[in-house]
Amino acid sequence: MKVLSVNAFMRDFGNAIRPQMNMSIYRDNFKCVCGQSHWFDESIELLAEGSMKVMVKCPNDPRYVTSLKIKTFMIFKFKGFESLAGACAQNSDEQEMLDVLKFALR
Ligand SMILES: [Zn+2]
Repeated sequence: MKVLSVNAFMRDFGNAIRPQMNMSIYRDNFKCVCGQSHWFDESIELLAEGSMKVMVKCPNDPRYVTSLKIKTFMIFKFKGFESLAGACAQNSDEQEMLDVLKFALR
């Protein structure tokens, strides 16, 4: 997993939209940039959605964000998450960027 600054992380993620995918069929552990693994379920806060990937906030520490690729086989068979990149907010400006991101997206 790449560890990036918040700005570089946003650029790395690319086109982002407000989360709207039904994620209820995707359940697995994912590797978080905080160093731990977490179980992905509805308690995990999604900040943005891309093409078969999502940006998630760490459930233990809101400074950490990770982008997860949704791995599938033949499109419909879920094969787990692959952590692509992560970032840690270094100051209140970066934290605010993360906190308002999903409301700023269309
Ligand atoms: Zn974490």
